[in-house]
Amino acid sequence: MGRQSLEPVLIVEDSRSFRMLAEQQVRKAGFATKTCTCLAETRDVLDHHTTFLCAILDYNLPDAHHGEVIDLCLAAGLKVVVLTASQTEKTRDEILSKPIIDYIPKDSSHCIDAVCRLIKRLADNQGHRVLVVDDSASIRKRISALLARQYLTVLEAENGEQALDVLERTPDISLIITDYEMPKMDGLQLVYALRKKDTECSQAIIGLSGHNDGALTARFLKAGANDYLPKPFNQEEFFCRVHSCLNAIDTEWRLFKLANTDFLTQLWNRRYFFERCEQLATEEPKQLAIIDIDYFKRVNDEFGHHVGDDVLVEVAHRLADYCPEDMVARLGGEEFCVLSCRDLTTFKQSLERYRQAIAANPIRVLGQTLNITVSIGVDAQATTVPQLLQMADQALYQAKASGRNQLVVSQN
Ligand code: GH3
Ligand code: MG
Ligand code: MG
Ligand code: MG
Repeated sequence: MGRQSLEPVLIVEDSRSFRMLAEQQVRKAGFATKTCTCLAETRDVLDHHTTFLCAILDYNLPDAHHGEVIDLCLAAGLKVVVLTASQTEKTRDEILSKPIIDYIPKDSSHCIDAVCRLIKRLADNQGHRVLVVDDSASIRKRISALLARQYLTVLEAENGEQALDVLERTPDISLIITDYEMPKMDGLQLVYALRKKDTECSQAIIGLSGHNDGALTARFLKAGANDYLPKPFNQEEFFCRVHSCLNAIDTEWRLFKLANTDFLTQLWNRRYFFERCEQLATEEPKQLAIIDIDYFKRVNDEFGHHVGDDVLVEVAHRLADYCPEDMVARLGGEEFCVLSCRDLTTFKQSLERYRQAIAANPIRVLGQTLNITVSIGVDAQATTVPQLLQMADQALYQAKASGRNQLVVSQN
């Protein structure tokens, strides 16, 4: 995952050795850094620049012994993580009473690992939506504020029914945090309903309740929730549980992508294509196209495999752009496949425009300009995917035999 484009991390620390170690580790984790050694220097930096992914702040600085730098950075709108060597309850409570992301005790070099994990989590949070389900508006507001502080996009619902409604309209929600007792549909009912659905990647669920029932934790977990927290909860524990759920979701998504997409082009792979086809079996109408690059072997022979690879990527990306509503997969080699439930006329139009665009716009890779064409075979008559593939392949064969760079629709 490229993190290069992200905003830098601000590190404020007076100890030279600690600052250098922190800077080195944060950079190694893929983030740019900006360092300051005291409050005054931080003030100067913030006068000119306030867009940081987050700020890692030392509580005790030579010109600010009581965490003044925290207030400075919070006032500048920064997301703040505090590092402190002080172990007193008072300091801890004082730090946690501020709207910071987290505080990390400076007890060993491991604390920098914890900082790096947290920064990565924050960066990845930007791609996640969380749904907060609670009938109490004030609790929803509190939880939403905590989550928004961590770059998470938050949606809210007042009960299970509304939650299902929101999920229907917003499918890419990664985490659902749900209260137990709510009118219309309670939290457990919601978990049952969610786990019944067969989604490609699961959503994590955390149950919450102020209900004093010892068996409720087990009921939530057995229903399929990933975790459970009693209300009122400790903010640090809440963040740890949210993070562990999001880490699990990210890992699952990475594995799903590895198993189902083609590494080179990022299109769906053959295995995903055939699996999905079985699930789609009952949806009509259906048409399928096979796209094959013309004389592709020559590209490899003339310019080398690495140029060939780049051409494959470009041809694949353009195909996905022209067929955004369809399932586009790399069947293998320089052969791609599009399965569509649109009507045949618009499907053919998109493919024909794609073919013309490929022929008209040479592909520029590694200093070379290559004129590429594709041949396309389409079938809309067969009723099963294997038959569609066979018919489309015959049409493709005709397109190749009739001079390439053309689209042929199979006729019975
Ligand atoms: P035609 O117009 O008849 O389709 O001719 P063609 O040369 O495109 O077809 P052929 O099947 O003879 O050659 C396909 C070539 O695609 C051969 C193979 O080396 C190349 N190829 C397959 N997979 C990859 C890949 O991942 N990267 C690169 N660079 N080449 C690949
Ligand atoms: Mg210090
Ligand atoms: Mg070919
Ligand atoms: Mg081929």
